[in-house]
Amino acid sequence: MRPLAAHIDLDALRHNYRIAADCAPQSRSVAVIKADAYGHGALACARALEPLAPALAVASIEEALALRAGGITKPIVLLEGFFDADELALIDEHGFWVSVHSDWQVEALLAFTPRQPIPVWLKVDSGMHRLGFEPARVAPLWHRLAAASQVGELHLMSHFATADAGDSGYFETQLETVKALSRTLEAPLCLANSPATLAHRTAHGAWNRPGVMLYGSNPLEVDNPIAASLRPVMSLRSKIISLREIAAGEPVGYGGRWRAPRPSKIAVVAAGYGDGVDRHAADGTPVLVDGQRCAIAGRVSMDMLTVDVTEVASAAIGSEVVLWGESAGGARLSVDEVARHCDTISYTLLTGVLPRVPRYYS
Ligand code: PLP
Repeated sequence: MRPLAAHIDLDALRHNYRIAADCAPQSRSVAVIKADAYGHGALACARALEPLAPALAVASIEEALALRAGGITKPIVLLEGFFDADELALIDEHGFWVSVHSDWQVEALLAFTPRQPIPVWLKVDSGMHRLGFEPARVAPLWHRLAAASQVGELHLMSHFATADAGDSGYFETQLETVKALSRTLEAPLCLANSPATLAHRTAHGAWNRPGVMLYGSNPLEVDNPIAASLRPVMSLRSKIISLREIAAGEPVGYGGRWRAPRPSKIAVVAAGYGDGVDRHAADGTPVLVDGQRCAIAGRVSMDMLTVDVTEVASAAIGSEVVLWGESAGGARLSVDEVARHCDTISYTLLTGVLPRVPRYYS
């Protein structure tokens, strides 16, 4: 078998969920497992989290139905609500909860006759300017929904644009906008994503919505002691499949981007952009070979990448290579650090691992 797999540590997932929940003991923490649980496998993650989390959140009814088909019985929130009024029958049948962010959704919901009232998270655009009602429109909508027999528990929901940033100015503006509405309407809130769960106690509401921190990534721009206690859930591991010595000045890989600064030992690793390794990985992007840090040298190819292992005496064909996560011996390489070298964020690396990479769960 090709020696590349994503090893998913469900115990680490549960550990991280407990940290998120402990950050906000007065809140209920919905586990965000959209986008196939950020690439980790939604059903396996849902099964691991179901005994801990009071609810799970996904982006679409397709994701929610797959969880129900897999035996998940906990409430499932559709974070973007429904995309078509036809979905309401299934939402009702399966007891899903919905976010509502647009007029047509309100009208469709109020024209529908569910078997049981549907819990609704009314989304406020407090400044992200992506989804939600502008604040001035929220009070009348709230009263309409609160009076409707179709609607069960009603919450106000909003999403932060800058909760991860060192400068909290805009975050505070958004928070105050939605808190003012909640004071007037006596509305329970659901606001906090991972960065706000970790760093902004004032944003904790009746519900929080942590996502990426459950998978072990630090969602903040800065180091944080609680984030440091998160454990990586996905370890993307491959092996060296070929080794060669090259002379100083020789180029490696497409475009000859990397040139050996000295006589060098180059390892070829069975992982490439056809697996989801970011082609933007710069020279110097760290990997672990036999648990020791060394660096990508040359452009990532479709099925392979090359690493300078000159300093790793043990490097041999079959040596373990960790692209991010934890080595078999317990050495760690954070996906956040790798993402910085790829000029991206952990979210894209984790969700970008492609289906041809097998996931193994422990
Ligand atoms: N809530 C909403 C509406 C989201 O779109 C997301 C993620 O994109 C989350 C919560 C979770 O965010 P994070 O992964 O940063 O915790």
